[in-house]
Amino acid sequence: MHDYKAAANALENKTILITGAGDGIGRVAALTYAKHGATIILLGKTTQKLECVYDEIVNLGYPKPAIVPLDLRGATKQNYRDLAATIEQQFGKLDGLLNNASILGSLGPLEHFCVSTFENIIKVNVTAQAMITKYMFPLLRKSPSASVVFTSSGVGRQGREFWGPYAISKFATEGMMQTWAAEVGKTNIRINCINPGATRTSMRASAFPGEDKDTLKTAEELMPTYLYLMSESSNDVNGQSIDAQPK
Ligand code: NDP
Repeated sequence: MHDYKAAANALENKTILITGAGDGIGRVAALTYAKHGATIILLGKTTQKLECVYDEIVNLGYPKPAIVPLDLRGATKQNYRDLAATIEQQFGKLDGLLNNASILGSLGPLEHFCVSTFENIIKVNVTAQAMITKYMFPLLRKSPSASVVFTSSGVGRQGREFWGPYAISKFATEGMMQTWAAEVGKTNIRINCINPGATRTSMRASAFPGEDKDTLKTAEELMPTYLYLMSESSNDVNGQSIDAQPK
């Protein structure tokens, strides 16, 4: 799937919700999915960033997106219920959910982690993803073919020193994906994980400040895998954790 070539209209008539759509990989996924015909619901923390992505999509002549400013750290059941009601009213169904937003927190020994940082990371990276998936589920059931994609990491598959609560949150993401996937079985909904691998974004720069960013893949280079999992070419793929970069 690293060399997957999606048809120009591969996502036509699909409505896809992307968390963390204002920056980094989420922003590029939003532009890419819109380019392939999807209507994108751009969810993120910073309204101004979402508005920039909105403008880019509209200026390129892609389907008009929607904006949902929401800080996942403080989001409540009612926020998710309201979001589901608005999507139901405007679109009637949801065909894709890209659970992409995450925070890194600070790196360091687990022995010294700060409890409030730990709680924030779990809230944004785990609890919010679980809740948004739960509350979107009735809308995903209404799609003829729905895809939920969680975002993992290499440190969510093999423990690595000093990656602290972030690594723990990504192990939880892998487990959440597997549990959801086992429960849905063979239905109209498939649930998988992407591990983007080292990618040129601000999160990567904060983890590796001294790194030469030109040695890293860009988010654009990952998009064949992101397109594959959101398009109907992956209809039979469920419960997989897939690398967006070849090994
Ligand atoms: P960025 O930090 O560049 O972007 C993260 C996005 O998530 C931003 O749009 C940010 O919004 C949003 N976000 C953060 N906190 C919240 C919040 N509380 N509420 C709502 N939105 C929020 O990260 P990347 O693009 O690099 O990462 C995307 C995904 O890929 C993450 O899940 C990350 O863990 C994963 N990943 C990335 C790798 C990499 O090398 N880049 C490697 C492995 C995994 P705002 O800008 O408004 O804060």
